[in-house]
Amino acid sequence: MLAVIPESADEGVRPTRVVAGTGYYRDSVPAGSQPVVSASSGTGASLYQFFSPGGLLSRTHPAYEFRRGQLQMAQAVEQAIAERRHLIVEAGTGTGKTLAYLMPVIRSGQRVIISTGTKNLQEQLFLKDVPFLEQALFPAGDRKLSVCYMKGRSNYLCRKKLYDLTDKPVLSGLDEIEQYRAIAAWEQTSQSGDRAELRSLPEASALWHKLDARADTCLGQKCSSWDKCFITEMRRRAAESDIIIVNHHLFFADLGIKQQAEGAPDAGILPEAGIVIFDEAHELEEVASGYFGISVSAARLEELCRDTESLLQRNRIYTTAASGAIKSLRERGAFFFSLLPEGDGRFAFESRREFLEENGDEFLGLRQALARIAAELENMPSKPEEVHGFIRRAQELNVQLSFLMENEDKNTVFWIERRRGGRDKVQVILQATPIDVGPILQECLWSKLECSVLTSATLAVSGGFDYIRGRLGVEHARDVVLPSHFDYQNQALFYVPPDLPDPRTPQFAAKAAERIRQLLEITRGRAFVLFTSYAQMRDIHQRLLGELDFPTLLQGDAPKTALLEEFRVTPNCVLFATSSFWQGVDVQGEQLSCVIIDRLPFAVPSDPVVAARVKAIDAVGGNAFFEYQVPAAVITLKQGFGRLIRSLSDRGLVALLDNRILKKQYGRMFVESLPNYRRTTELRAVEEWFSPEQANQS
Ligand code: SF4
Repeated sequence: MLAVIPESADEGVRPTRVVAGTGYYRDSVPAGSQPVVSASSGTGASLYQFFSPGGLLSRTHPAYEFRRGQLQMAQAVEQAIAERRHLIVEAGTGTGKTLAYLMPVIRSGQRVIISTGTKNLQEQLFLKDVPFLEQALFPAGDRKLSVCYMKGRSNYLCRKKLYDLTDKPVLSGLDEIEQYRAIAAWEQTSQSGDRAELRSLPEASALWHKLDARADTCLGQKCSSWDKCFITEMRRRAAESDIIIVNHHLFFADLGIKQQAEGAPDAGILPEAGIVIFDEAHELEEVASGYFGISVSAARLEELCRDTESLLQRNRIYTTAASGAIKSLRERGAFFFSLLPEGDGRFAFESRREFLEENGDEFLGLRQALARIAAELENMPSKPEEVHGFIRRAQELNVQLSFLMENEDKNTVFWIERRRGGRDKVQVILQATPIDVGPILQECLWSKLECSVLTSATLAVSGGFDYIRGRLGVEHARDVVLPSHFDYQNQALFYVPPDLPDPRTPQFAAKAAERIRQLLEITRGRAFVLFTSYAQMRDIHQRLLGELDFPTLLQGDAPKTALLEEFRVTPNCVLFATSSFWQGVDVQGEQLSCVIIDRLPFAVPSDPVVAARVKAIDAVGGNAFFEYQVPAAVITLKQGFGRLIRSLSDRGLVALLDNRILKKQYGRMFVESLPNYRRTTELRAVEEWFSPEQANQS
């Protein structure tokens, strides 16, 4: 996508898109302004006149290159909006899909929410694509599109919390004092309250967590700072915008809040919109499952205790009764969570009934402690408004705990997660996740929207959409797979070694490490080596230490953005990484000339959510392996390999060290679903591919 936007697209962009100081908003169009469709502007042109060779776009930006798939996608989106239908579009990297949906969205004149999977794409839309279109549509600079960009609430400052802290500062340590000063000074000038403006604030600032504008601590209209609240302002701006750019997390968090509030008018922060575009839609099932699920941890209970304690202390109403209730909740919470079954990582909690028979008193004790805190707070004679929020939190936790331990819903899997944090701290979390999120989405989303567009570079399996339709419950949707703009036959070689052992055998690691070494010699590094597990990544990295003549980076040694930055600037670098680098990572040019994947990325079958989904499909006579596990792995593999070719001039190697793709019946589904790469099983062909003559010919 970015490849077709000339550098000049950034030039001439009006300063309103600058983030710091002026905030993230670009909605200089006053409230109640008319939609931008007009015959006098570029929006009056047909999509063909806009995208075609010699059309408006190519006249405005000479480097713009016509792509048939982009025009087809724009036409399909326009038709879906006109006919009020849902649409699923797989548009490979290089199609230019963001412009392909932005144009019909602008022409519709309706309010549209665009939801993305990643912050990078959100920023690309807001900071590059929208200004680029604006320049093409309104070259005289006399009009602007009405667009706003929203992040999750915890990215914004809660002014009420900051003012409370200023009145009665309770800060721990010099770091917090320094951070407090920086936040307080910035608050005076910031128009957005978005912490991204405060570059000096550490990512993991504990103080920020005490000051952010999370929904569960917000007083809403009863807040004394409501009028100058950053969230109120953001809501107002969104209500005045035609295009609202959010991410999936914010979208589903908002949907969840509105569901709970049963349509209360001021619930949520996103305004009503009949059209939603979901970009990076392959992530929807996971994100939606998280927001329609429930999780309660000992840490969440502790947070309630801490917040309540500090509020009561600040207001000098910390009574003996309240202190007793908090102490009791702390003790009972910690004790109850310590009784939960042993286990590491994520595992199913199938013995809930037996557990309750054994530990029913402790469970009851915890619930009573939550009820006691709520009652103590309720009975306080004169209490600040915030107390009501704490009562609500205690009651909500009580209801959620009851659901987690006692509910028998057939469409929910109950499980436990033990996460290791810093300083050997272990977090224990009780979780409930919908097994099939499709019916829930059908009821609360698809049936309510006039039109939705689900798009991504990886949605189709063997050219069809049965998998994504089934998982997301999108019925009656049109679908289209668009041809890629890239010449994969000449840009990418796909290598599978037929001689390596099955990756499930113990012999695999040594042989795979040796083959990776050989491949990296040929490609002169410049590679991502992607693994399906941390253990395999560490093992193979260890085996190759001292064997490679190239600089190497290992996931976990530094934050993701720092590793990527170092990869980009270090010649011949090799990065060893796992799932978080399989998607949303964009390295163009020769610096990334090879992507090696260790094995077919099947989800871990023992994972409680995966196991429950497999069981549910098999129970109704389906074949979970072919209907769920293989398609999910196909999409992940497409994502991983998608890191290599990011522009028309990129060229390189994708290698899969798992030859089950050649030997097993299901392998065909993977091969059919991948782009039309040139294929080989010969190491010699890889050498030839990287020979100077071959490289020049391509
Ligand atoms: S309305 Fe909510 S988020 Fe805004 S300042 Fe008040 S408490 Fe904070």
